Amino acid sequence: MNYPDNVKLLMMLLPIPGASGNEAAVIDAIRSTAIQAGVLEDCCHIDQTHQLAGFGETGSLIIKLPGNRPAPRRLLMAHVDTVPLCVGCEPVIEGEWITSTSDNTALGGDDRAGATVLLSTLLRILKEDLPHPPLTFFWTVQEEIGLVGARHADASLLGNPETCFNFDGTLPEGVIIGATGDEHIGITVHGIASHAGAFPENGVSAIVIASLAIAELQEAGWLGKIEKENGTGTSNLGFIQGGAATNVVTDYLEIRGEARSHNKIFRAEIVSAIQNAFENAVIQVQNESGNRGRIEFEHHLKYEAFQLDVSEAVVQSAMSAVKAAGEEPEIRIVNGGLDANWMTENGMPTVTLGCGQDAIHTTAERLHIPSFQKACEIAWHLATD
Ligand SMILES: [Zn+2]
Repeated sequence: MNYPDNVKLLMMLLPIPGASGNEAAVIDAIRSTAIQAGVLEDCCHIDQTHQLAGFGETGSLIIKLPGNRPAPRRLLMAHVDTVPLCVGCEPVIEGEWITSTSDNTALGGDDRAGATVLLSTLLRILKEDLPHPPLTFFWTVQEEIGLVGARHADASLLGNPETCFNFDGTLPEGVIIGATGDEHIGITVHGIASHAGAFPENGVSAIVIASLAIAELQEAGWLGKIEKENGTGTSNLGFIQGGAATNVVTDYLEIRGEARSHNKIFRAEIVSAIQNAFENAVIQVQNESGNRGRIEFEHHLKYEAFQLDVSEAVVQSAMSAVKAAGEEPEIRIVNGGLDANWMTENGMPTVTLGCGQDAIHTTAERLHIPSFQKACEIAWHLATD
């Protein structure tokens, strides 16, 4: 069967292994395809992400085209890394969908679909030679492990784009103008070890401290979905590890969690509530001699929330492009992190549009071809209108 060029490109990029940090092969495939199609090597640049992050085999790929009509620079972006579950995927086309042949791998349409939207737009511009503004194509690395490529995005290296469009998600007509912020939380609970049979009264159990704290948080509505007078958000303690044996009072427990809110101040309140609960719990548990445990509490920002105004140029351009492609734009604000969070934080307001992804990060992942092609059409309007 004869598939359109953009679907062929997608089938070329999907099987290339590229878990976060191991993106060299996919970056190289995109770069060499662009150069073969006529992009000058001088227009291609790999940034410093891997060096700045101290991890990974390559930085993000930047291709800058000069404009042939005067207008502010526009940037199109997508991430090239996938979750590890996609490594080894063999894509197959079935009707309107692309799926992975094996039941053991995910597809990696998140976000090779977006990466292909950019590449096919670039190739089409070279081929059709239509008037366009100065353009930057930006393929980021390490998105799946904390938006690392976008975090290190350098506006001057990217040619100071005035408007930026990120392709990553499901519906091409969904115009995402805001996303939540996320704070990482790390708690170490130190108790006092003792023989659980002979001298339990000498021990302070780290597990008991954590249990009291978590019960208090649950009771007071600070876990899961949080709705208070001051704001809304979510929190989760998603990792807990500790203990050595059943006959030892546990003296060490490690807990990791997160707090999310669109409101920075309220997010800080969630973090404080969690810290206070653990500090209160420490006070409640002592051994026979009156000794207590202690906690170490650490938190840091994974990414800041953002919300663009519908009147902003970047949002208006995205809505026009969706309409030009024959769809009705739907403005959205989401509760997950996107490369757009860090792009906007770095002074480059970014709208995110979908490209046909479905059931991402699972072996049921598939890609909707008509939505992917619609995203290509939208990108074409963004690059040339
Ligand atoms: Zn993604």
